[in-house]
Amino acid sequence: MCSWMMDTFGTEEQKSKYLEKLCEMEYLGSYCLTEPGSGSDAASLSTTAKRDGNEYVLNGSKAFISNGGNSDLYLVMARTGESGPKGISTIIVPKDTPGLSFGKKESKVGWNSQPTRAVIFEDCRVPVHNLLGGKEGFGFKFAMKGLDGGRVNVSSCSIGGADASLRAVIEHVSDRKQFGKPLSYFQNTQFEIAEMASKLVASRLMVRSAARLLDAGSPTATASCAMAKQFATDACFDVCNRSLQLFGGYGYLKDYPVQQYMRDTRVHQILEGTNEIMKVIVSRSLLGV
Ligand SMILES: Cc1cc2nc3c(=O)[nH]c(=O)nc-3n(C[C@H](O)[C@H](O)[C@H](O)COP(=O)(O)OP(=O)(O)OC[C@H]3O[C@@H](n4cnc5c(N)ncnc54)[C@H](O)[C@@H]3O)c2cc1C
Repeated sequence: MCSWMMDTFGTEEQKSKYLEKLCEMEYLGSYCLTEPGSGSDAASLSTTAKRDGNEYVLNGSKAFISNGGNSDLYLVMARTGESGPKGISTIIVPKDTPGLSFGKKESKVGWNSQPTRAVIFEDCRVPVHNLLGGKEGFGFKFAMKGLDGGRVNVSSCSIGGADASLRAVIEHVSDRKQFGKPLSYFQNTQFEIAEMASKLVASRLMVRSAARLLDAGSPTATASCAMAKQFATDACFDVCNRSLQLFGGYGYLKDYPVQQYMRDTRVHQILEGTNEIMKVIVSRSLLGV
């Protein structure tokens, strides 16, 4: 997301300084939008970036930042002007900037392959040329555009989890016997597997369709990405949860992988905008309200 935002909206100077390193993963970036007081209502954020000569001075804090503390660059949505979305700009803050600090590593239910931390700004000064795109007031637009691709990414993670769950459960029900026959001989098992496979295939098709529309710059891309994210992350979590049920008690043990797939995919219904907010985006595109 950060690399895409830098590539799409960054100045030539910003791209030449950061983009190659981001693409080669020499640098990792964190996307900093959410705050303790503004989650779904992201446009009400209160972290400020005040201009002082040739610098911006940032104050405030961001919550739930993926890879916070480990990333090299932070793309921070901060208020440079009026209240609401038009007063928000995106500022690039490198890790070693004085005044930038991090909260404790959050203890999460899943999604533990990367740390999640608060990111804190206390009189954190960066040069004015760290304003993404060199334009004030476009940060909310940049952030929302970045989320379109982020929603395809996170849906793809859900698909991976559901695919792995389905493979694991097919093996288990073919092997495990109760009442003298494999679990796969019971009609409930067969119907569960059929429904789960259908949900997985439908998710894949929706996410690929949204990705195609996004690549093509379609005017329906934002709504399609939101629709795909809501559908795929709900459907794939359901696949993981039902897989666990078919594993019986073994599914609840950490010795077996399905519990991890369920814990990891659960957060996809929350991050990159909750699935309720996805419905707000989709319905707004249809109803115009
Ligand atoms: C592991 C993890 C990693 C994350 N990584 C990042 C990151 O890297 N960068 C970043 O900026 N953020 C990140 N987030 C934050 C994430 O995007 C927010 O948690 C999410 O947007 C929801 O905000 P909130 O937690 O404040 O919930 P709230 O906004 O308080 O929502 C609580 C509930 O109310 C519902 N709700 C709110 N408003 C409405 C409405 N208008 N209509 C209907 N229902 C509504 C929500 O759907 C939800 O069910 C991460 C979160 C997690 C858990």
